[in-house]
Amino acid sequence: MKLSWRLIVLWSIPILVIGFFLWQGTFSPTAGMGNNSANTKMTYGRFLEYLDSGRVTNVDLYEGGSTAIVEAVDPLDRTLNRWRVDLLPANTPELTTKLRDAGISFDSHPPRNDGALWGFLGNLIFPVLLIGALFLLFRRSSNMPGGPGQAMNFGKSRARFQMEAKTGVVFDDVAGIDEAKEELQEIVTFLKQPERFTAVGARIPKGVLLVGPPGVGKTLLAKAIAGEAGVPFFSISGSEFVEMFVGVGASRVRDLFKKAKENAPCLIFIDEIDAVGRQRGAGIGGGNDEREQTLNQLLTEMDGFEGNTGIIVIAATNRPDVLDSALMRPGRFDRQVIVDGPDFKGRIGILEVHARNKKIAPDVSLESIARRTPGFTGADLSNLLNEAAILTARRRKEAITLLEIDDAVDRVVAGMEGTPLVDSKSKRLIAYHEVGHAMVGTLLKDHDPVQKVTLVPRGQARGLTWFTPNEEQGLITRSQLMARIAGAMGGRAAEEEIFGNDEVTTGAGGDLQQVTNMARQMVTRFGMSDLGPLSLESQSGEVFLGGGLMSRAEYSEEIASSIDAQVKALAEHGHNIARKIIQENREAIDRLVDLLIERETINGEEFRQIVAEYTQVPEKEQFVPQV
Ligand code: ADP
Ligand code: ZN
Repeated sequence: MKLSWRLIVLWSIPILVIGFFLWQGTFSPTAGMGNNSANTKMTYGRFLEYLDSGRVTNVDLYEGGSTAIVEAVDPLDRTLNRWRVDLLPANTPELTTKLRDAGISFDSHPPRNDGALWGFLGNLIFPVLLIGALFLLFRRSSNMPGGPGQAMNFGKSRARFQMEAKTGVVFDDVAGIDEAKEELQEIVTFLKQPERFTAVGARIPKGVLLVGPPGVGKTLLAKAIAGEAGVPFFSISGSEFVEMFVGVGASRVRDLFKKAKENAPCLIFIDEIDAVGRQRGAGIGGGNDEREQTLNQLLTEMDGFEGNTGIIVIAATNRPDVLDSALMRPGRFDRQVIVDGPDFKGRIGILEVHARNKKIAPDVSLESIARRTPGFTGADLSNLLNEAAILTARRRKEAITLLEIDDAVDRVVAGMEGTPLVDSKSKRLIAYHEVGHAMVGTLLKDHDPVQKVTLVPRGQARGLTWFTPNEEQGLITRSQLMARIAGAMGGRAAEEEIFGNDEVTTGAGGDLQQVTNMARQMVTRFGMSDLGPLSLESQSGEVFLGGGLMSRAEYSEEIASSIDAQVKALAEHGHNIARKIIQENREAIDRLVDLLIERETINGEEFRQIVAEYTQVPEKEQFVPQV
């Protein structure tokens, strides 16, 4: 299925483009001359001369008499030849008399309605440009192997790696990942002063594997190494190696290493190496020949240069577990460096880096931003400051204030702000739903505290309750997980309680999915159910080709159904907790809903104060990050 639409797109473009030219060709003024079209031109004077000397045998007039194709005997070789002659239409009557007198056969071909035709062609340019733009878009958006763009590049032997002579990035531009930075500092020395190592007989490592989620700065780090060492930076993404057509990837690898050798010392960066480097033979439905060839070529190239040629290959991946073990052998990517998302301090560091070139109001502390953004990667933080700067410019302010930062955080996390609903029943329902979440979250001791509740829609969500997660705690207890399940059930529970079972909405779909995921993990991974302390699923919940799919049936049907029963029990338990809290606090909930509809946003502090007027709010240990 996927292939067929790709082929349609692939073929429709050349067909449209060729069709366009053919079409244009058929209707263009000179095309009608068909076989008669003559390559050589003849002056009008020469034509008259030929006419007088009786060499001309045939004349065809085109375009209202402004062009003629003249058939005449060539005086040089006495063969019949054709010439093209530009005429003045005013001369036509005179010429036709002359031709008639001389008894030469001639014909006149009426002009076409060219104005309208070209207008129509003009209209056609737009769709053609559009198709061109789509074509480019497909190429760009395809970072995935086998994405639609892959098909477009076929037949193009152009090497697809980039080379930067100077990256201009230094270690100071990378923050929050100090351990990785320290580990890699040595690579700079390898590149700058290899003699120091070779003199004592040390073999310089050729490859380093950076392991970490997207956006944590792996590319940035590699660039910084090249920048610090002052060597060129070659980069390519693993997905760009893998093409639909066998052999292209391998030749790209060859090209890349050839270029790198010419420019040594240098650094090669291969992003998403898992696209090529997956365990061979793991593909379902037969191996991918092309990928294997590419990988083999990569291995050959890595073996093919000596450690002291001054080339260091850095590869990045988020899935070291799927990589072919051959890649990790000594002499290849034998060093692994973990690059993780930044912690609180790291986030401050990254914010400092990206705040350097931005105007930020003096009352904004980067610490407070860092506190609001647990789980953000370097890329998210840089994006956040940029969004805030854009908002500031849009609001015509001098410097970024807390307001813009707050809006930008919401936007980065939850998407674009939509227009709030007008007061209606559904707005009321959403308000109950959100207050339900917030109320359960507030009254359960083990739940993260509410940061704010809002009815301003963002992205897919029509209302949102934000919690302040307690990030620096590494382990999560069973009661915390249970509290999260109950909190996620809070929305649906409130809908049921207030509007009845028939009125509940699809709005809780996402919540229920979350509940199911958490409950399933409690049962299968953390041994937190009546099934006992068993791990019933592999760590990586994600199913990828070859690996996860096979490991699914590690347990019997019987256990599978008891897992389902346990998941259900946990979800129901959470639901009951939520229902009870909603029932017991109906009065406070009604008041908060009215306030929320009136104000659209209530912050956590105020929310807790109002709840405290009705019932006791448990104290929560809140982690206060130390700077
Ligand atoms: P990855 O390669 O891990 O996906 P990138 O290096 O492409 O991530 O990061 C994208 C951008 O995010 C960088 O160009 C940089 O602006 C910002 N960024 C990411 N991590 C950091 C960091 N640790 N320090 C500073 N900026 C960072
Ligand atoms: Zn919800």
